[in-house]
Amino acid sequence: MGATPGRKLYEGKWKTLFETDQPGRLIQRFKNVPTFAAARTPVKLPRRGAMKNQISAALFTLLQKNGIPTHFLEVLSDRDMLVRRLEMIRLEVVLRNVVAGSLAKRLGMEVGSPLAAPVLEHYYKSDALGDPFVNDFHVNALGLATGEELKAIREMTFRANGILLPFFAEREILLVDFKLEFGRHDGRLMVGDELTPDGCRFWDRSTRENLGKDRARRSAAREAAAYQEIFQRICA
Ligand code: UDP
Repeated sequence: MGATPGRKLYEGKWKTLFETDQPGRLIQRFKNVPTFAAARTPVKLPRRGAMKNQISAALFTLLQKNGIPTHFLEVLSDRDMLVRRLEMIRLEVVLRNVVAGSLAKRLGMEVGSPLAAPVLEHYYKSDALGDPFVNDFHVNALGLATGEELKAIREMTFRANGILLPFFAEREILLVDFKLEFGRHDGRLMVGDELTPDGCRFWDRSTRENLGKDRARRSAAREAAAYQEIFQRICA
């Protein structure tokens, strides 16, 4: 298909979106280093943008093959992918299989505790507010999504979990949690943004070592090796 980047449409922390000469299609370019990184600047990894591009492409393809629509169309080059233009819904949808991160803190639970059932959470996407936790009533009152859309988003997120869990288990990875973002394209809901270790927690199934980004104090070299490791297990 191919496409050349035109006007810059949007710049996020990890990616830039460009218009193309094809209507309804954008180029999503991944960054090696995030821009508005704030307090939690991740370590510099060589070729991070290229790995993000390939990991997202592989996981979006997997979801699409299993009937979950995503904005992904094709990989164009090292850090660029062609995507459908979406009208984004300002929600971060988090699905958790194991207790970690903010859930551990909020409920005073031990990191690594199993959950009797997966937990789905919504956060309102707002950098200024630090993406606050919201429930259905907030989503409705703020007009972020309709009740029907919210239902479909949940259903798609649980289905994605059902697809991703065994995919990662086969690669000796425990999918602790992940974040999806959704948007509308021609009235159809689909997964947008990215699906990479920067928005998911991946642990090695046997050692429980964190693969990918790590907010704990750890050396840059170890984090680089872990990111590379997850890339190999997904894309090799
Ligand atoms: N997450 C994300 N972007 C955010 C916040 C969270 O991609 O702005 C992902 C995060 O990487 C993790 C999951 O959502 O896989 C749950 O994150 P959590 O609420 O535990 O917050 P964190 O500990 O990451 O601040």
